[in-house]
Amino acid sequence: MPIGVEYCKAENGKIISPGKDSPPSNKKTSSTKLLYLKFSHTSPCFRLTPTTMFFDSHVHFDRFVKDGTFQDLLDHSKEAKVLEMLAIGGSSEANALSLKLAKEHPGRIFGCAGYDRDLATESPDGPELRGFLENPLVRAVGETGLDYYYTAETASEQKKLFAENLALAVEFEKPVVVHTRDADGDTIALLKDYSNAWKGDPGRLGVLHCFTRDTAFARQVLDLGLMISFSGIVTFANADPLREVATYVPDDRLLIETDSPYLAPVPMRGNRNEPAFVVHVANRLADLRGGSLDSIANLTAKNARTLFAL
Ligand SMILES: [Zn+2]
Repeated sequence: MPIGVEYCKAENGKIISPGKDSPPSNKKTSSTKLLYLKFSHTSPCFRLTPTTMFFDSHVHFDRFVKDGTFQDLLDHSKEAKVLEMLAIGGSSEANALSLKLAKEHPGRIFGCAGYDRDLATESPDGPELRGFLENPLVRAVGETGLDYYYTAETASEQKKLFAENLALAVEFEKPVVVHTRDADGDTIALLKDYSNAWKGDPGRLGVLHCFTRDTAFARQVLDLGLMISFSGIVTFANADPLREVATYVPDDRLLIETDSPYLAPVPMRGNRNEPAFVVHVANRLADLRGGSLDSIANLTAKNARTLFAL
C-alpha cells in the first residue's frame, strides 16, 4: 500500500495535532507559513520553511510507471517539497524512460543514461548510449560501476563496461553516478584514471551513490573529487559505522537519495520507497551533523544542482 504524506497541525510553531490533517494549499504556504509534514502516525513531524527543497539524486521510476503509481509519487514528492529528482538509467529501457520523464517533467525530473554492471556480459549498444548522452536533458552518466557481491565472476567484463562509461562521461563532460559493492580497490583504480582524464569542472566529476563503506574509503572517494550520496541505509539500526561517515563528508560534497523503490528509510520500512521519503534521510543527516533539516535539504539540493549543472 503506498503511503501518502500527512500533515500535522500547528499553531504558533507548536505541533498541536500529530494526526492526519488536510494538506495546505499553495496559497496557505505563503512566504511566512511554516509547513509541518508527517508521513505516518509513527513518523516524526518535520518542520519545513517555505523555501525548503529536497533533491532526490537517485530514483528508479520504472516500477511506479508500470504499476500506475507514478502520479501518486509525483504528488507525494511535491507535498514533501522533494521538487527535483534524477531519473536513473542503466539499461536501454531505463535510459529511454529517464529521457522520456525528463522531457515530460522539465525542471522536475532530470535524465541520466549509462550501462550498469549487470549488462557487462551482454555488449550493450554503444551508439545508442551516445545518442542519449548527446541530449542536453541527460545530465549524468549512469548508474554504472562494479558489484562483486553478486557477480564476482564477471569482474573483468564489469571493469571494461565501467571504463567505457567513464570514458563517455569524460567525452561528454557529464558526471558519473557510481554503484560499487565489494569492489573498493578496482573502483578507486578506475575512478583515479577517470579523475585524471576529466577535463570539465572539477566539482562535477560524479557521485558515489548509496554509500555504505567506511571513512577510509570515503576519504579516497573525496580525494578523487567525487561527491558522496547517503540513502535510507543511514537510518537503519545497524548502521552506526555509516553514521560516522555521514559526519565526516564535507558540506559541499554531500548528496541525499532514496534509491527508490528500494531501501525505504526508518520509520517507513516495509513500504515501497519513494522520493518523498528522502526527507527522512535528510532528517537523520541533520541530527548527525548538527544542522537543521532545512539547511541539509537546501545544501544537498544545491550540491546536486552544481553536480548536474542545473
Ligand atoms: Zn540505483
